[in-house]
Amino acid sequence: MIELSNVSKTYGSGESAVHALKDVNLRVPKGTIHGVIGLSGAGKSTLIRCVNLLERPTQGSVTVDGQEMTRLSGSALNQARHRIGMIFQHFNLLTTRNVYDNVALPLELMGEKRSVIKERVLPLLEMVGLADKAQQYPAQLSGGQKQRVAIARALASKPNVLLCDEATSALDPQTTGSILELLRDINQQLGITILLITHEMEVVKSICYRVSLISNGALVEDAEVGDFFTAP
Ligand code: ADP
Ligand code: ADP
Repeated sequence: MIELSNVSKTYGSGESAVHALKDVNLRVPKGTIHGVIGLSGAGKSTLIRCVNLLERPTQGSVTVDGQEMTRLSGSALNQARHRIGMIFQHFNLLTTRNVYDNVALPLELMGEKRSVIKERVLPLLEMVGLADKAQQYPAQLSGGQKQRVAIARALASKPNVLLCDEATSALDPQTTGSILELLRDINQQLGITILLITHEMEVVKSICYRVSLISNGALVEDAEVGDFFTAP
């Protein structure tokens, strides 16, 4: 479960202050897929980055699986982040590492043994359909394949929560469809809670249970996807 309570985020101060989030309240129940949709500059990226504290809220609290993230720092925060995977619009793979080693990276950073890493990485590559690409480098892959690698990497540390920051925005519609299908499988088969942000209605319509609309840093709607799109 993800809970944001009265979260505000201000960048800068004085006359140049930008109020990117204004008193945001959001509750994402365990095991669901929740979408946050809004225009460019609305605060989506800031919101999702506040969940794993890539951005620290100026005010308010963020709780993930009962742990108040906003109280943590240093190694305790790093530990808590292992329970939260994240994927990005531009994949953020390491170009100097092959597919296997990109997925292995979080486990290496956690100090896992090679044998443990191998036991974890191979099934993940299998799951995302890239078992035969283990030795390839990101430059040799299509956009959709890169995002699959990023998804496998995000799941390496066995997170309960997956954050998706415009994860399909750089992909063509067909590839977007296959990545969304994979995310749905991950949600259903592994029970992972997914919070995604997007500016694309179609993404929300196709996989989210609930959706929030963010405008000018404020959440202005929170509804079941069906209700949201049929509302007058
Ligand atoms: P979105 O993801 O919906 O496009 P963002 O969260 O990226 O929105 O941005 C929300 C607002 O905060 C925008 O006005 C943006 O310019 C501003 N902003 C985002 N990041 C920073 C930053 N690091 N420093 C200053 N302003 C920022
Ligand atoms: P070793 O134990 O033989 O030193 P590692 O497990 O450290 O091997 O892996 C060395 C490299 O070989 C890894 O960085 C990875 O790129 C690749 N690799 C290891 N196991 C596999 C595998 N089963 N499938 C594909 N690539 C693998």
